[in-house]
Amino acid sequence: MGYRIEVVIDDCMSSGKCVGDYPQTFDFDDEELATLIEDGEVMSDDDMIRAARNCPSRALLVFDASGTPIPT
Ligand code: SF4
Repeated sequence: MGYRIEVVIDDCMSSGKCVGDYPQTFDFDDEELATLIEDGEVMSDDDMIRAARNCPSRALLVFDASGTPIPT
């Protein structure tokens, strides 16, 4: 644990992949763009990497505990 995932909202194309796969963590905002649920379920590091790899528009970024981007 210890990684952090972030949505680059300008890059989200509303595919719904992250929302469908991890509905306890991601939701759509009013513009149908992915957003992290406040107080949502914390994903495992592996799931963060998996979600980022599965995002068709590469809009999910993963960082380690020191803030360094994790290649996905
Ligand atoms: S998987 Fe990527 S493009 Fe699809 S909703 Fe999530 S952030 Fe947006």
